[in-house]
Amino acid sequence: MPAKEVKDGVEISNPLEIVQRLLEVAVDDLGLPRGVFEILKKPKRIMKVSIPVRMDDGSYREFEGFRSQHLDVLGPTKGGVRFHPAVTEDEVAALSMWMSLKAAILGIPYGGGKGGIVVNPKELSKRELEELSRGFIRELEPIMGPEKDIPAPDVNTTPEIMGWMIDEFSRLKGKNVPGTVTGKPIILGGSQGRVEATGRGVVFTIAEAAERLGLKLEGMTAVVQGFGNVGSITAKLLAERGVKVIGIVDAGGGVYHEEGLNIAELIDYAKETGTVNGFKDYPSMTNEELFQAECDILIPAALENQITGKTGPAIKAKIVAEAANGPSTPEGTAAMEKNGITVIPDILCNAGGVTVSYFEWVQNTTHLAWTEKEVNERLFTEMTEAFNDVFEMKEQKNCTMREAAYLVAVERIAQAMEARGWI
Ligand code: GLU
Repeated sequence: MPAKEVKDGVEISNPLEIVQRLLEVAVDDLGLPRGVFEILKKPKRIMKVSIPVRMDDGSYREFEGFRSQHLDVLGPTKGGVRFHPAVTEDEVAALSMWMSLKAAILGIPYGGGKGGIVVNPKELSKRELEELSRGFIRELEPIMGPEKDIPAPDVNTTPEIMGWMIDEFSRLKGKNVPGTVTGKPIILGGSQGRVEATGRGVVFTIAEAAERLGLKLEGMTAVVQGFGNVGSITAKLLAERGVKVIGIVDAGGGVYHEEGLNIAELIDYAKETGTVNGFKDYPSMTNEELFQAECDILIPAALENQITGKTGPAIKAKIVAEAANGPSTPEGTAAMEKNGITVIPDILCNAGGVTVSYFEWVQNTTHLAWTEKEVNERLFTEMTEAFNDVFEMKEQKNCTMREAAYLVAVERIAQAMEARGWI
């Protein structure tokens, strides 16, 4: 069992230990050589950097950052960079491993990567944030590139930040290298539909799950934890498909409205105030209430360790769509399974982001620009196929969707290892 830290009476799992355990089970179930697990169990490289930033008041601050490159058996490593005060080396490592699995499930020629800087970006001015982003790329430059490692947005990072990063990398190289960062502004070679891609993919998987359960999306109710890029877009697209989004909780509070929230208005409100809290004077909602809410769909779209042995048993939703990476602890997962909840696992559910990042990289490499319609149609095809692959594996092995997702991913990764003569 993973070592547990307990915070406010809730067990906090080390995400690295969670992913290692699931990988080991998958390797064993598939009857693969032990060597597959030995290669998969940790990143091949983690770079730890210290980034000096001259603050607006003239003082200097050092920020700690990491870039983890898990595995390059399927292609260059790929994954976002998060800016968050709780970033740790183990977290970044686990997140890079989940990226490898996501890419394999979607059939994308990438391995997993992830970066993180220990910082609360809300405390930095725009100039300080730019200096930090550029400084990170200067440290990473030797291990980055379109055929090596390709960063993208993640928690608290935006297309604007990707613009600074691609500019810094291109300056260091003395040439334009658009394919080395994805999620860029469109004017710099970003892809149509990339900003919405993760949320759009989440909605595609929810629609598939609902269909399998014989439920109609229209008229269903949903609650969402997190109102950043993924939470807000997922809520918006669900509302457009006739789902009533009745509750949303973010870091600043929560809002509940039984009739369904007007998401377009809420997005404007949250942009102005920084939180959904207080919207139209509707009743507030806590995290605890969110997990207990009477609803059909629950979407954790924030951070790890949210659905736990404490919050999991109270969930009443029929479908839990893991839009965040690693939102459920093993205890939380067990509680949901016990209650017969359909869980769309993170490595499938939120893979729309990296899928359109891949489309962006393909467009950069071929010097073509696809229309938004083309991007969205291709995303639909990829996500639906991936959902089918995982669902079929689940039926075949009579296991959970999460176990099936790991089996699909590990099987493909092992095939590549074998083809390269690694095992
Ligand atoms: N940060 C996103 C994720 O966790 C997207 C990564 C990417 O586009 O490379 O999947």
